[in-house]
Amino acid sequence: MNIDSTRIRSLVAEHGAPLLMLSTRTAVAQYRSLQAALPGVLLHYALKPLPHPAVVSALKEIGGWFDLATNGEVDVVRGCGVDPERCIQTHPIKRDGDIRYTLDFGCKTFVFDNPYELPKFLPYKDKVELMMRLSFRNKEAQCDLSAKFGVQPAEAMELLRKAVGMGLKVRGLSFHAGSQLMNHYKYVEAVTTCRQIFNLAALEGIPLDTLDIGGGFPASYTESVMPIQQYCQPLAAELARLFPNVRLIAEPGRFISAPSMTLVASVMGKAERQGRMWYYLDDGLYGSYSGKLFDHADYKFAPLKKLEGKDCGPERLSVVSGPTCDSIDVIYRDIELPEMEVGDLVVSPTMGAYTWASATEFNFFPRTKVVAID
Ligand SMILES: *Cc1c(COP(=O)(O)O)cnc(C)c1O
Repeated sequence: MNIDSTRIRSLVAEHGAPLLMLSTRTAVAQYRSLQAALPGVLLHYALKPLPHPAVVSALKEIGGWFDLATNGEVDVVRGCGVDPERCIQTHPIKRDGDIRYTLDFGCKTFVFDNPYELPKFLPYKDKVELMMRLSFRNKEAQCDLSAKFGVQPAEAMELLRKAVGMGLKVRGLSFHAGSQLMNHYKYVEAVTTCRQIFNLAALEGIPLDTLDIGGGFPASYTESVMPIQQYCQPLAAELARLFPNVRLIAEPGRFISAPSMTLVASVMGKAERQGRMWYYLDDGLYGSYSGKLFDHADYKFAPLKKLEGKDCGPERLSVVSGPTCDSIDVIYRDIELPEMEVGDLVVSPTMGAYTWASATEFNFFPRTKVVAID
């Protein structure tokens, strides 16, 4: 873990604990490295994992694009002065008010994946541009985002015909190959199928000009993942071969935001129970560690004094718990830790994606404060 402990201590002195240290510079560096790995692909940062205005502003500064799913996300980008033409709305299921709100903002690209969604666009037929989302099931991914959305490839042409037959403007296809996707060949399989559908559509006189390859690019949590250049290489090669002259879009969320935040929490109490030390932190599963439940992610964890290289004495099997009164709220069981004292600080890096975003205020423990550090 690479941390600046002097900085951490001074931030805690200023803001108190717990806090999430946000490095927008890291988010920008992640965006740039993915951009280099996927030349020609318009990277639309998916706000969902970390809808923080500081991240949006930093990416806007470097000419970024944005992927929105809700009216709240529209408000965030609008508040940051983002050009609506640089945004797409990709929630497959929307209410009339959602479509209207997004159009009023000025964003006109939407997604559909089933026939019941189509009539909703008819009142705005002359304005909206659509992408049809396909389902590529992926049991290997940490989160299979095709389990709930997307038309089966075998049914895609029928749905496309229906949309076009209703006078709607369909520009292309989209998919999400699965979040924290380790198997990078899943993208290759998906774009190969998309090419076939592009071909079938062209034969029927429906020219498609946009392919959106979604998100899914993995972050290094407890184990490091393949460098992004290497990870994207087979996909980039297939995109160049199969989709020349097609507008290419991606919707990375986690890859951009995960490494950009580090959590600092403090020990608010301790106890010895049946031979184990229990440490109660001021953040837990109902808070920033909610990603352990919802996102099935795991995060590194260490006492700050250990990271500082101090002699912390012998380690023993311990339990690290969150602050709420619910017994599910245990972050780590059976973790080897040196003895910690009340007030000691602990650190978890790579906590930018699906952490703060899914935190609750259960038991009135407020959501952890995010502090932009650069
Ligand atoms: C969640 C989501 C994303 C971001 O996915 P990551 O795996 O975090 O990159 C992109 N697009 C859509 C439609 C999503 O729902």
